[in-house]
Amino acid sequence: MRKEPARSVFIVFIILNIIASVIVATVSRIGGMMTIGANQIPMTAFTGVFSSLANMCLIILVVLFKKKGLIASLILIVTQLPLLFINIFRGHNSFSIPGIFSTLLIIVSIVIIYTNRVRIDRYQAKVREQAVTDRLTGLPNRFACSELVEDLVGNNEKFAIVSVDINNFKSINDTMGHNTGNEVLRRIASRWKNAADSELSGTQDFVARLGGDEFALIIKGYTMEVDIVKTIRYYESVLENKLTIDDYDYFMTASFGYSEFPTDSQNGETLFSYADAAMYEVKKNNIGSHILRFVPSLLRSEHTLELEREIRTALENDTIYFNLQPQFDTAHNLRGFEALARMKDSNGNNVSPGEFIPAAEKAGLIDKVDSRVYRKAAEFFGEILRKTGADITLSINASVRHLIKNDFLDELRDLLDTYNIPARCLEVEITESVMLDSADKALKCLYGLKDMGIKIAIDDFGTGYSSLSYLNKVPADLLKIDKSFIDEMNLSESSEQYVAAIIAIGHIMNFKVISEGVETKKQLETLTTIDCDYIQGFFWGHPMPAEEAYDLVRQSKITKNK
Ligand code: C2E
Ligand code: MG
Ligand code: MG
Repeated sequence: MRKEPARSVFIVFIILNIIASVIVATVSRIGGMMTIGANQIPMTAFTGVFSSLANMCLIILVVLFKKKGLIASLILIVTQLPLLFINIFRGHNSFSIPGIFSTLLIIVSIVIIYTNRVRIDRYQAKVREQAVTDRLTGLPNRFACSELVEDLVGNNEKFAIVSVDINNFKSINDTMGHNTGNEVLRRIASRWKNAADSELSGTQDFVARLGGDEFALIIKGYTMEVDIVKTIRYYESVLENKLTIDDYDYFMTASFGYSEFPTDSQNGETLFSYADAAMYEVKKNNIGSHILRFVPSLLRSEHTLELEREIRTALENDTIYFNLQPQFDTAHNLRGFEALARMKDSNGNNVSPGEFIPAAEKAGLIDKVDSRVYRKAAEFFGEILRKTGADITLSINASVRHLIKNDFLDELRDLLDTYNIPARCLEVEITESVMLDSADKALKCLYGLKDMGIKIAIDDFGTGYSSLSYLNKVPADLLKIDKSFIDEMNLSESSEQYVAAIIAIGHIMNFKVISEGVETKKQLETLTTIDCDYIQGFFWGHPMPAEEAYDLVRQSKITKNK
């Protein structure tokens, strides 16, 4: 809301009004003539000017100072009225009679101006109230919260911003419906509002709802950092008391991340994003205490951000493409190819997939990168199949995030249809981390692939969470032994036996086994001896551009046993 102008302005307009009124009264009493150039002008001609000036001052007082201005104006008018009457009755001055009417008029005018002003103010207050209040919970909203933060920053006051996210709120919405979800949010908000009003936390707190299941706490009036954590714990304990809605009990928890002014940053927006980064870390890593302070290492480095920008640009400019690395059986018959993503940056330089694939995963862009590779590789592969009639396999890599997307199966179905590829000629490589991250959803998707007739390979086998029970659950066709085991294989007897054991177990479980990163003849010979089915590595073939792969298919014998 607009601030009232300074007291001195108020006094200036009162004095101006008094001076103008005194001039009007004096001139109309003494009358007389004034010479301007060759003309004689009656002094009373100027009374209109000064009386308008006096009225203007009254109007300005009401507009600027509202009630105070109205009272002052009325007092001024009432005290000046006797002067007019004295002029008319004692001085027999008929020039002052219109002054009575103009005074009555100005009284009516300023009262109208005042009442309108009050109405506008009330309306503005209501609009503002709505703009800063969250409709669902009645708490202050994001806008109000940012305003407060900006004020505190402006006053250089020490405070902490806590970003709060309710855990598993989505599942309440999904299972119990939105009405229950809304009621849960309202109850949480009311508990936290009471907590803030009671000041039982020992600090001065402000609670806001930022949207969805996100809340923010602004904490001030503390001395040490432990006080911030104490206050957060207090809000956590208030939240964790049982919540009963329609006879159902809910036990809510939340994740809290915080940053501090001025230690972490002197900018309100930045403090918010830092608190968010800490809160996301709590969520992501399921941090036991549910509370985390921001530390700079939580931020994505400048290099990662730059890489993200490059990936977006590469997607836009269509500079993501693929190479194909051949896979053979041990008799050197071609089994097929693995499609590997390649990317050129904005300067036309190649970026290593070891760098941009993890960055794309972090930035949530991996499904877009994958899809680009799938589409281009499948188009080419479909053409090879049509031109050569070769019965070979195309392996594509799928990241967990992509695999568990609802439309993953539809995307592959569309690829097979569009490019005329039989399902048995497509293989999806997944890493073991798939099973760690989202076991149920991933398994469902893998069975979906199986039903479509698409093959499944477990990539980088041995590097992650290898457990026989999990291998038993996954409907895989192929185990890909990670390059690190192949590198070590010929260095010691036990390493060789280890690889031999993986191959044997794979066979017991009815999987084919392929070794990745085979670089030497010796490795190839050992793998042949210990019964490995397939070979992929620089020894028999680097990842190559599509045209080279086409030549290779035409020149190769194709394995019968894919
Ligand atoms: P990966 O799926 O295990 O792919 C095999 C990697 O080993 C490839 O690295 C390949 O070039 C490399 N390689 C193959 N044979 C040899 C060898 O004999 N010696 C050596 N030193 N390296 C060999 P690349 O192309 O750098 O890919 C790295 C990883 O990036 C892949 O590992 C895969 O996990 C991921 N990736 C590649 N393309 C895609 C894709 O389209 N989508 C997804 N989600 N991930 C991909
Ligand atoms: Mg792979
Ligand atoms: Mg691999």
